[in-house]
Amino acid sequence: MALGNDILTKLRELVGANNVCTAKEDLIAYSFDGTAAMQALPGGIAFATTTEQVAAILKLANEIKTPVVTRGSGTGLSGGSLPCPDCLVLCLVKMDRLLELDRANLTMLVEPGITTLAIAEAAMTAGLFYPPDPGSMKISTIGGNVAENSGGLRGLKYGITRNYVMGLEVVLPNGEVCWTGNKCVKDVAGYSLRDLFIGSEGTLGFITKVLLRLIPKPVAKKTMVATYADMGQAAQTVSEIIAAQIIPCTLEFLDRTTIHCVEDFAKVGLPLDCEALLLMETDGHPAAVAEEAAKMEDLARKNGALEVRVAKDEAEATKLATARRSAFSALARVAPTTILEDATVPRSELAKMIRFVAEIAKKYKLRVGTFGHMGDGNLHPTFLTDERNKDEMHRVEEAFKEIFDEAIRLGGTITGEHGVGLAKKSILPKFAGDTQMRVMRELRRALDPNGILNPGKMFD
Ligand SMILES: Cc1cc2nc3c(=O)[nH]c(=O)nc-3n(C[C@H](O)[C@H](O)[C@H](O)COP(=O)(O)OP(=O)(O)OC[C@H]3O[C@@H](n4cnc5c(N)ncnc54)[C@H](O)[C@@H]3O)c2cc1C
Repeated sequence: MALGNDILTKLRELVGANNVCTAKEDLIAYSFDGTAAMQALPGGIAFATTTEQVAAILKLANEIKTPVVTRGSGTGLSGGSLPCPDCLVLCLVKMDRLLELDRANLTMLVEPGITTLAIAEAAMTAGLFYPPDPGSMKISTIGGNVAENSGGLRGLKYGITRNYVMGLEVVLPNGEVCWTGNKCVKDVAGYSLRDLFIGSEGTLGFITKVLLRLIPKPVAKKTMVATYADMGQAAQTVSEIIAAQIIPCTLEFLDRTTIHCVEDFAKVGLPLDCEALLLMETDGHPAAVAEEAAKMEDLARKNGALEVRVAKDEAEATKLATARRSAFSALARVAPTTILEDATVPRSELAKMIRFVAEIAKKYKLRVGTFGHMGDGNLHPTFLTDERNKDEMHRVEEAFKEIFDEAIRLGGTITGEHGVGLAKKSILPKFAGDTQMRVMRELRRALDPNGILNPGKMFD
């Protein structure tokens, strides 16, 4: 059902008629995000261009108790920006300005709709570095990254989005605007509300400005690829690299299925006669980089690598990283429905978890490609399926239940970076337990007593 005429008239007054959409074809385009097999039509879509507009819209929605779902680029993989039926989708992609680059304090102030790539490039142009690099960085927005607390390929050494957020402007569900955080490196005044909003998946407030921490750009980098006949050898290499106190900036892996799909898609010349591939990258001072790269190469060979290929220049390094970034898109080409998951375990349990995923795929007769951030223990088992095949979809569900149970049993988590959203809300209580669930519910009620923000996400 479309939104009522009263609210549509007010929305058009607030943001202009060209920033409000209600046509069926527009509603369909905003009825899903990057998550497979989930769809719901919104009642309407509005694009805000200023914080004041966001505040006025939330005040109005709160008064008339209309649900509002925040949206960035819609690349989320847990159904976070999926509309609830008849809600207003308030999309912030038009708020995409870089407002300030402060070289004295090494910070950048941006609006929420700017892409992660634009931030990384602006930092790079200034001789600085913004490390978080989700695979979707070409299109994902910083608002979405903060709301999901996204990770990326460099998480092992540099951390995740949270580690680079110094301050946030947030519009609360009643329309009040609140600043939390600042440019100070140290600040312990009061609760860290900034941290509460990071990872809140659009359920506590709208992020309308982000103050980011930048760091000096590493001067040197070495990238290499090692291939193995056995996934266990790749996992062992990772354990020994960490035990040797080397923290590479990237330690990613692809299994056989994923390697073949990526090569078919990206044509970068990946070796195909192997069961596992490790993408390893070290950066920093040239002397340290040379030493670490040599040690990593030794450890890869010692653990039975079939081949270790060191990228000869920046172009080849970029090509290899791009191949890894395209893993999800490459897998998505080979089946009508691609369900990518996010089970994460302590690094010491990684080899066990990878074996478990393979056994489960066999048990439920499913096709799986697994890749992920091996250095972080963050796996992306990806089932290649077809949502029209009800029996197979049921088996996929059962397989994931077992995978998440195993992740929890091994001391891991149900999501390392994609969030809970709709996709995992049924398993959050099992992971979080009664007390955490109660505290989260109370926090949400305190900030959004009318329950208008992204209802039905994370928990009911
Ligand atoms: C090919 C591909 C690769 C990916 N790789 C990675 C990866 O490596 N690491 C990773 O962590 N994720 C990855 N993702 C998932 C996804 O890109 C991230 O979660 C990303 O941060 C979402 O950004 P978005 O702008 O698309 O947000 P959306 O999908 O639009 O929204 C995501 C959530 O954030 C909320 N939200 C959005 N903007 C705001 C705002 N301004 N204020 C408050 N809430 C807001 C929404 O309500 C929703 O709950 C990948 C996705 C794809 C499709």
